[in-house]
Amino acid sequence: MTAPPLEPRIAPERVGLRPFTPEIRDRLRALLGPEAVLAEADRLEAYASDETESLRFLPDVVVLPGDVEAVRSVLRLAHEERIAVVPRAAGTGLSGGALPVCGGILLSVERLDRIREIDPRNLVAVAEAGVITGHLQEAAAAHGLLYPPDPASLDSCRLGGNLAEDSAGPRSLKHGTTRRFVLGVEAVLADGSLLSTGGKCRKDATGYALGQLLVGSEGTLAVITAATLRLIPRPAATLTMILPFSRLEDAAAAVERILAAFDVTACELLEEAALAAVARLEPLPGPLQGRAAMLLLELDGEQAEELLTRAAAIDEAATALGAGEALVADDVAGQRRLWQVRRRVGEAVKTISAYKEADTVVPRSALAEVVLAARAAAARQGLTAICYGHAGDGNLHVNLLRGELAESQWEGRRDAAEAELFAAVVALGGRVTGEHGVGWTQRKYLRLALSETEIELCRALKRTFDPRGILNPGKIFPLPE
Ligand SMILES: Cc1cc2nc3c(=O)[nH]c(=O)nc-3n(C[C@H](O)[C@H](O)[C@H](O)COP(=O)(O)OP(=O)(O)OC[C@H]3O[C@@H](n4cnc5c(N)ncnc54)[C@H](O)[C@@H]3O)c2cc1C
Repeated sequence: MTAPPLEPRIAPERVGLRPFTPEIRDRLRALLGPEAVLAEADRLEAYASDETESLRFLPDVVVLPGDVEAVRSVLRLAHEERIAVVPRAAGTGLSGGALPVCGGILLSVERLDRIREIDPRNLVAVAEAGVITGHLQEAAAAHGLLYPPDPASLDSCRLGGNLAEDSAGPRSLKHGTTRRFVLGVEAVLADGSLLSTGGKCRKDATGYALGQLLVGSEGTLAVITAATLRLIPRPAATLTMILPFSRLEDAAAAVERILAAFDVTACELLEEAALAAVARLEPLPGPLQGRAAMLLLELDGEQAEELLTRAAAIDEAATALGAGEALVADDVAGQRRLWQVRRRVGEAVKTISAYKEADTVVPRSALAEVVLAARAAAARQGLTAICYGHAGDGNLHVNLLRGELAESQWEGRRDAAEAELFAAVVALGGRVTGEHGVGWTQRKYLRLALSETEIELCRALKRTFDPRGILNPGKIFPLPE
């Protein structure tokens, strides 16, 4: 597959910065050593994109600091010379957050990959920003513990990216997003000073929660180098069930009723078009064929027997709301098979045509309306919509697909459908991103969701943390005219 063309950069001067020069590159080499500074075209290419569809911006240089002092020295230099610095962890982001839209220095934390400590007495882990999320989960599991945040990308994404995006996953329904697990943050500020805030205390009312402010800050306030993270005991038993529905509205009503009455760890929805997409890759289990929607639920607890009893009660409640025959698995292989239907949607969408994913989030009671709004917005532009995601959190991923539409019409129609969709989402009480962040792609919708008062307060915080605006310029906020 050929790479999409490079996007035109924003001139650094437009955001009050200076262009990168070979002299800065040489000074970075002197600070970090030549092996930690990449400037060859083919090495830079590898850092020009993340997982956002069709976006590429080339950095001027990539630096790979191996410790916190090296991160500090890069920031001191960039601050002094007013050069853009874009933090990057694994580059799996879906809103273009790690893309160097003004060029400059791309600072990858991939070499800060030590789990400094698993502390079973206090149920915490201290891990660096470059640790792959799944590796932390494995290390916690070795102590009988769980680090619950479970973005689907957990085998490749890194903790720095998870904190910066406040990433979430199916289990966020029960346990909360990454934010809930952050007790302390170590970070380097724009001028190179070191911030170490919070720690192992589970309660802390001492002043502003600065660490929490960095969670979800998308690389615009500081470079996170490590975090102290809460762990929980690993549940002894889990159970997965799928409930098929012939009407989308019944599935949406079931989400509300089930979550009001039962302890559920994850509650995921696939609507008709998402089921059809998965069926292109593998036959659906019988009870799912020809259905308008399915819900996948995960339960956890201490006793397998209790989970079966809870599942039977949920099944009874769902049947009264129109659910068909439930599929239930409490063994590892069976659960994996059921999850497979949910996990393969993203891959299935990619096999159909060009697409754009919109990360919508609404109050749970508006789930069905979002799907209907997505279908209507897509149809008006000659596109199709495939909706699926974290129903329990009201967080549906709407994929707008080009289908047979001529390529020349795709961009304009896609953008029109997306704008209509987000206007509908906000009118339903929703926001313009639930877990993928504002980054580069969503900033045009920021004013739909935030008031001028909120935006100005956020800008003031940004100026306090980063007075010269060197950290991840061009992200979150609309650009100056
Ligand atoms: C297949 C797939 C499935 C996904 N599933 C989910 C999902 O279920 N839930 C979900 O929430 N997301 C999901 N994502 C999106 C993505 O994986 C998450 O946003 C993830 O947290 C990004 O981590 P990363 O290490 O790749 O960060 P990057 O993409 O490298 O960076 C993301 C943002 O964080 C900033 N950043 C990175 N490191 C630091 C740091 N050390 N300090 C300060 N800022 C930093 C960057 O500047 C950028 O703004 C998925 C992506 C893919 C490709």
